[in-house]
Amino acid sequence: MNLISRKLNIELQLFCPRRHCPYYQSLDNKIVKDGKYKTKHDGVNRQMFYCTEGKHRFSETGYCDLFCKHGSFKEYEQLCKLSCYGLSIDAIANVLGKDSRTVGIWQQSVSKKTSLFHNFICLSIPLAMMFIQMDELWSYLKNKKHQLWVFVGLEVNSRFWINFELGSRTTHTATKLVTQIKHYMGTLSQVIPLKITTDKLSAYKNALESVFNDINYVYLQIVKKRVKMRLVTVKKCFVKGSEADFKGKTQNTSYIERINLTLRQHVPFLQRKTLGYCKKKANFTDSLWINLYDYNYRHTHKSLRLPLANQGALKFHKKWIHQTPAMAMGLTQESLPWRFLFVVPIIPVTH
Ligand SMILES: [Zn+2]
Repeated sequence: MNLISRKLNIELQLFCPRRHCPYYQSLDNKIVKDGKYKTKHDGVNRQMFYCTEGKHRFSETGYCDLFCKHGSFKEYEQLCKLSCYGLSIDAIANVLGKDSRTVGIWQQSVSKKTSLFHNFICLSIPLAMMFIQMDELWSYLKNKKHQLWVFVGLEVNSRFWINFELGSRTTHTATKLVTQIKHYMGTLSQVIPLKITTDKLSAYKNALESVFNDINYVYLQIVKKRVKMRLVTVKKCFVKGSEADFKGKTQNTSYIERINLTLRQHVPFLQRKTLGYCKKKANFTDSLWINLYDYNYRHTHKSLRLPLANQGALKFHKKWIHQTPAMAMGLTQESLPWRFLFVVPIIPVTH
């Protein structure tokens, strides 16, 4: 328990994850640590717990769907890492020497836990957003006749990838994205107006007007004109607010375009001019969720590093504190490993 609260900025309560137990997911239950065990597969220590009310023991693997999926922690971790390097399920199955259906099920479980975790943590701690950029990427679905768009929202100051939405390039999808962002903001009052920049797509304008009606925000559209793929002019269109509201290096969409590149590199379905386009929408979502965890919670971001005060005294002295986007956003205390995701106790929200 201490371990979890040290890593996250919220307290998490342990609960009984066993479906047949009468105290399943009940919070008036005392869960205590009860020894450790090692499996033959990976030799990794796993924590055992004791459910006081239900009078039974259970393992920490009970906190995710990977329980009873016949793999080791090491294999699950390898799956996640390979997935973030842009490998398809078939390729990962080949590397791990498993059936591709098994690997598919694992990936599904990990992505489900990621979305649960991300939603839970973002709804528990209201996100302090200063500057949002939104953009959309296209890919194919099933065959090259159907286009599928991925809408992405990014908080620039912390480089936090807020969320994504899959769908057509319409106001409907943009509205879903913006509504989710508003949910995560909670009831934090905006003293300084929230800065938003996007490209010229009118879907964002419509979505913002309908959803952000009670939020203090300024909005800038960057209109790029291309002739034969070459950029000719960049026009700034201040939809809400004026030039004075966008100080410094904020009159652009560069940050979101940089994350688009990262995504294209890491999600096989987004790679252009290849055969790797998406055949099944669910696989696409899974891949994006796994990448979201990797980007937000696991990887440190170079531009977020903070200089240490006593630098330069020794030759090999530590000069920087490295931060993940989630740390910069104030959600976590340190970079979270994959294993943490598998065993973190989070009660699924039922609607
Ligand atoms: Zn129980």
